[in-house]
Amino acid sequence: MRICVIGSGYVGLVAATCLAEIGHEVVCVDSDLEKIARLNEGQPLIHEEFLQELLSRHHKGRLAFSPAVEASIRDAHTIFIAVGTPCTPSGEADLSYVESVARTIAQLSEGYKLIIEKSTVPVYTNDWIERAMVMNGRDHNGFDVVSNPEFLREGSAVTDFLYPDRIVVGSRNERAARSMREIYKPIIDGTYELQASAVPRPEGSRQKPFYIETTPQSAELIKHASNSFLALKISFINAVANICEAVGADVEHVREGLGTDRRIGPDFLRAGIGYGGSCFPKDIAAFRAAAHACGYELCLLDQARKINEDQRFRFVKKIRKALWTLKDKNLAVLGLAFKGGTDDIRQSPAIEIIQSLIAEGCKIIAYDPAAMQRTRAVLGSAIRYATDSYDAMNGADALLILTDWKEFGMLDLQKVKACLRYPIVLDGRNVYKPSEMQKAGLNYYSVGRLPLEISHSSAKRASALTQS
Ligand code: NAD
Repeated sequence: MRICVIGSGYVGLVAATCLAEIGHEVVCVDSDLEKIARLNEGQPLIHEEFLQELLSRHHKGRLAFSPAVEASIRDAHTIFIAVGTPCTPSGEADLSYVESVARTIAQLSEGYKLIIEKSTVPVYTNDWIERAMVMNGRDHNGFDVVSNPEFLREGSAVTDFLYPDRIVVGSRNERAARSMREIYKPIIDGTYELQASAVPRPEGSRQKPFYIETTPQSAELIKHASNSFLALKISFINAVANICEAVGADVEHVREGLGTDRRIGPDFLRAGIGYGGSCFPKDIAAFRAAAHACGYELCLLDQARKINEDQRFRFVKKIRKALWTLKDKNLAVLGLAFKGGTDDIRQSPAIEIIQSLIAEGCKIIAYDPAAMQRTRAVLGSAIRYATDSYDAMNGADALLILTDWKEFGMLDLQKVKACLRYPIVLDGRNVYKPSEMQKAGLNYYSVGRLPLEISHSSAKRASALTQS
């Protein structure tokens, strides 16, 4: 099929590339001309596993990038809308980008158009797009609007798109539903995986996804409810972690006990400094606002948001307690992205914690495998940038781990101790076991577990032993 994807951000770019990978002719357009120019130069713009490989495979073949939004819309039969839906100050989703695209499609449509809403939007947005089409003189027979929310996770976006748990399609008639089945056919029936050049299916993923056909309202609600539920799970384990700290329990053991109950499941039960990114904070606020607009107060979500915000303050308090005072302390930070595997720093807890520490007079030197460039654009020279993990901690008063990159869980702890001025590690993602830190002779502060403090006398003994 010939498809136009509007928006070349995390979702638009991944969707366009993967739609080309499963056999469609795709043009991906964006009003940001610089982005399109860079994509046309072969720069992938975002850090995602397999993306570069698929771009090289399809760019200038089945996949094109174009700044000509209007011409591409006019030519396309099938249009995916993947523009941003940020948060307004009152928490509602800002739908102005979606509305502007809908109006453009309405004004330029000549033949039939299948309009697919991929951005995360509140319930009834599908109706609004339909209304925009009708208000601009389009006949009901000349278009369909489908809600097809995206569930990919940054860091594993390509494999999530190609091997999803489920595909949700909200449509009003069989004509639109049939076209959607056609678009996703190689993924639904598993034939994509059989291709020799296919991106390998990740271990543990479903062989064939659930294909859920429903109404547009239900599809829109599924997306908001899913993200809100995942955010609730994270805040729940963080609340439990705070109780663990108060009573001397170990949240990692509690997590195992909870997560091995099949009704609960182990995912999204990692205690830490909280969720961030461009989705959870805004989607939870938008769902709260949409529920309010329908006359229902979803206060549960307020609490989840508050617990999440408090986690960052609690961690800064923990740093202060471990270091006595903060002013003029040199701190090594590992991790800037909102989670491991991505270069996205939007609403990253790491960035917020760094900003609080700078405000308290700390000097920060940071390292992240993918997010340095984006951080430079936000924090500039307010912090220093290291060339690798050990370079960051060389001579630092303490080490902070703020993002759960795999490589940060595989450090040579003897080397860490040798690099640091004081043997202090604060782990905001619980990537280490206290026993590993104890063996290395490091003071270790994590989330939901008692602090591990090497006593002065044993530290002196260890140092005397090392010298002898
Ligand atoms: P993004 O901000 O990275 O990208 C949006 C792009 O749309 C930008 O490049 C922007 O220039 C472009 N754009 C805006 N208005 C346009 C217009 N009129 N014409 C052409 N291009 C236009 O956003 P994103 O992270 O890709 O998210 C897009 C949507 O998908 C959001 O609703 C988001 O909630 C949802 N979503 C995101 C993720 C994720 O992990 N990032 C996952 C699932 C769903």
